[in-house]
Amino acid sequence: MALRSGQSFASTEVTRTFGENPGGMVGNDAQRQWQQVCALLRAEFGDTAFGTWLKPLELVEVSYDRAVLACPTQFMRDWIAANYADRIRVLWTRLNPSVRSITLLVRPPQPAAAAEPAAAEAANSGPNEELSARLDPRFTFETFVVGKPNEFAFAAAEKVANSDTPPFNPLFLYGGVGLGKTHLMHAIAWRVRQRDPSRRVVYLTAEKFMYQFILALRSKDTIPFKELFRSVDLLLVDDLQFIIGKDSTQEEFFHTFNALVERGRQIVLSADRSPSDLDGLEERIRSRLSWGLVADIHPTTYELRLGILQAKAEAAGVELPLRVLEFLASRITSNVRELEGALNRLVLQASLTNRPVSIEMAQEILKDVLRSSERRITIEEIQKAVVEHYGLKLSDMTSARRQRAVARPRQVAMYLAKLLTPRSLPEIGRRFGGRDHTTVMHAVRQIERLIVEDPQIADDVAALRRKLQA
Ligand code: ADP
Ligand code: MG
Repeated sequence: MALRSGQSFASTEVTRTFGENPGGMVGNDAQRQWQQVCALLRAEFGDTAFGTWLKPLELVEVSYDRAVLACPTQFMRDWIAANYADRIRVLWTRLNPSVRSITLLVRPPQPAAAAEPAAAEAANSGPNEELSARLDPRFTFETFVVGKPNEFAFAAAEKVANSDTPPFNPLFLYGGVGLGKTHLMHAIAWRVRQRDPSRRVVYLTAEKFMYQFILALRSKDTIPFKELFRSVDLLLVDDLQFIIGKDSTQEEFFHTFNALVERGRQIVLSADRSPSDLDGLEERIRSRLSWGLVADIHPTTYELRLGILQAKAEAAGVELPLRVLEFLASRITSNVRELEGALNRLVLQASLTNRPVSIEMAQEILKDVLRSSERRITIEEIQKAVVEHYGLKLSDMTSARRQRAVARPRQVAMYLAKLLTPRSLPEIGRRFGGRDHTTVMHAVRQIERLIVEDPQIADDVAALRRKLQA
């Protein structure tokens, strides 16, 4: 259905055509016709589809019997050729019977004069840029430090990236926050694009997927959405935990997923927990997810943390004494993101003061980070903070009262207990008046959902976290 590259015209050719067609109409008449066509297209296809696909088109010229339009990307060109070009032609011919064909070219919008990241920009503006989130140029296989906790996930990711047909489908990466899931997904996407720039790679978060789907639903036209996702060669969906419980999104995701697998396209997914722990996921989806390869990224070890620090310090071109790196690796154990943050602060300091960083300096500069990684938050502290925040009594945390004004804060407290302490669900349940672990699980899910849907809850939770982690 979709047309592939090779059929597009280079933008230089456009310029030439201009010169050779002094009689070509590029002035007001052509513009006016195009605007009329646009108005008709908008009425016909709706604001969303129009805004997504047709608005970005630019009129190049009307020359003899053809109208020439420029699309910002190859992908859009293919899409328009397959879905809209014919309609554009019909509408245009009605306005101006001499126009009998539509020519679509690819002409990327003029890039801003950026010097260095030009290469990354070019790779980024490949197909599907409307859908795909930007890929971080730093997240490649080359910059990923491999150690025991992540070697399996790394190998699986490389295997997928270097294969022409899916070696396992899907590849499901899971692990705690800040351990490199997103990094590996971007690395796969970069490698695949590098090996074959014509392959359509879409990387996005599950949240964005949901958002796109909701937009499509709102415009009462989910067909472009479906077609779009189903035309992808490699689909990477990050942070799948976010669509849990959103039933229609889950359903749509499942269909997309099946359609792609059937067509032999590769899918890569990530979540903060394994498919079997993704409570609220439909059973058939869960089992389907486990068909491929499930690879977990374990919490970092001291060796891996040290390796990462060394690699990053070297990449930053800064020499930090080994003792300092060892100090960081032993004290900041939560995740790689925090480790990186700490390192960056030291690197900055070192370059500002032009003095070698000592352990004492590191201690001083990082005292807040070090303190928070030392502190262990307890369930009691969480309960106290929550009742203070909502103006309740401590006994409300353990009572059987079910009024929303009490039950909701209690759920927030359970959610925070799960998030900020290493306690298990049954343990947490016991501390909240002997509740069942399923009640805690329900509370956690409920608050996770509300954080997305209810800004007030999101604010409450953020404020409480800040307070508890201060
Ligand atoms: P996640 O998606 O699992 O929450 P990210 O992929 O965003 O984590 O990683 C957080 C940060 O840590 C990123 O800057 C990433 O580059 C870095 N990082 C994580 N693991 C590694 C690793 N093994 N080697 C190098 N950098 C890493
Ligand atoms: Mg991530």
